[in-house]
Amino acid sequence: MNHIEQNVHNIEDQLKKSLDSSKRDRVDLRVVVVTKYVSIEEAEKMVSLGYKHLGENRPEGLIQKQAALQQKEIVWHYIGSLQTRKVKQIINHIDYLHSLDRMSLAEEIEKRAEKSVSCFLQVNISGEESKSGFSFKEVMEVVEELSKFEKIKIVGLMTMAPKDVEESTIRKVFSELKKLQEKIVSLDLDYAPCTELSMGMSQDYPIAIEEGATFVRIGSAFFKEIEADKT
Ligand SMILES: *Cc1c(COP(=O)(O)O)cnc(C)c1O
Repeated sequence: MNHIEQNVHNIEDQLKKSLDSSKRDRVDLRVVVVTKYVSIEEAEKMVSLGYKHLGENRPEGLIQKQAALQQKEIVWHYIGSLQTRKVKQIINHIDYLHSLDRMSLAEEIEKRAEKSVSCFLQVNISGEESKSGFSFKEVMEVVEELSKFEKIKIVGLMTMAPKDVEESTIRKVFSELKKLQEKIVSLDLDYAPCTELSMGMSQDYPIAIEEGATFVRIGSAFFKEIEADKT
């Protein structure tokens, strides 16, 4: 087993445990393999191991990986902040955008997209200045405003938890996102089914799953070299 296979084994173990504790099955969770740090060969390895969802955070990286892996059936996720002027490069080449974080981006998507785009609204639950996204308070208003955008389908909400904080703080961020998501679901809007929650990365995906994540975005945990046994 090489290090990627070992990581996959460990992560799949952990996924099952976290899903069990919230009484869900593995099929209820989509694992987006974040390939932004790795080569085409490593991305291809993940596809050969059965992972169909790949995520990139730069247009160049996305285009390069797509060109190399075009014969494979891959679901492409754009996960990072997207500059307005780069929308046209990728918007018709992705299956999901996880980072709809401002109205000006929505306007550009409306202009450039040839068909409806499945978007996650990025919400800055923790309120950290370094993070982009709509604030908790403005989300409901944003959802309402987006009704006039024919090319935007709000499939869910996305957030990133702060780093290096207590588990209870991370848990609270994720549970608040879920509450907000349920509130949008209850509006029963055609353009905003909002059934999905994109939350959890290498550091915190077990907590996110326990709190209801339906998409996790995992990068480094899949590709890290196995550390020497510290015990
Ligand atoms: C890089 C990135 C990830 C994956 O991060 P890891 O810590 O490597 O798992 C997930 N989501 C977003 C938005 C990212 O930019």
